[in-house]
Amino acid sequence: MKLNQFVIIGLGRFGSSLGRELVQLGYEVLGVDRDEEKVDEMSNVLTHAVVADGTDEEVLRSVGVRNFDCGVVAIGDDIQASILAAILLKDLGVKKVVGKAVNELHGRVLEKIGVDRVVYPERDMGIRVAHQLVSPNLLDYIELSKNYTIAELGVPKCLSGKSLSDINPRGRFGCSVVAINKPKGMIIAPVADDILSENDVMVVIGTNRQIEEFQDSIEK
Ligand code: ATP
Repeated sequence: MKLNQFVIIGLGRFGSSLGRELVQLGYEVLGVDRDEEKVDEMSNVLTHAVVADGTDEEVLRSVGVRNFDCGVVAIGDDIQASILAAILLKDLGVKKVVGKAVNELHGRVLEKIGVDRVVYPERDMGIRVAHQLVSPNLLDYIELSKNYTIAELGVPKCLSGKSLSDINPRGRFGCSVVAINKPKGMIIAPVADDILSENDVMVVIGTNRQIEEFQDSIEK
């Protein structure tokens, strides 16, 4: 299902950043916040922004939330309001509802009431930054499952001028370099003879352990 229209309840730091990015990506976004100042700040950024209480069913009906493909509840501190807003979006027929949780218990409640996706921005960003701090070459990563990851690793000076067959990550660690991002462009499915340069970025797929071992070997 392609999502085109988004309604965001709560225009705090998370909700406003999400809305801004979605608009830049070319999507329509309605923002709802009970704080007039927040709405004023975002009124020139979002497609529409209204001052309203996201826990008021009549209000949500009147702004037509049921016509939206995706609703994001980005209320944090007021957990009760977050839960009520999420239930209302589901009941009013929003196809996909995403909830921001401030802790595990909040997240479990959102899951129980049928929220389609629960996100933990502070927790997840903390984990991400920790990984990046302890592994200077790790630029970014996506967890494909509990054990498998795609990671972007910066090429350090010591690997500059070497080919993939020289460093042989598949033979030595079992992980594969599926792309190399160079200033001139991306090499997809690189071959053994492709040469790395400092500051290129390798896109590597493998188990968490294989990628860790590869990272350790290039950080030494
Ligand atoms: P962030 O980290 O994204 O800034 P937060 O987790 O600190 O947010 P809050 O600041 O409590 O969470 O809430 C985010 C926004 O949601 C605020 O702008 C607040 O005014 C708005 N908000 C809270 N409750 C409601 C509600 N019932 N209806 C509409 N907006 C609400």
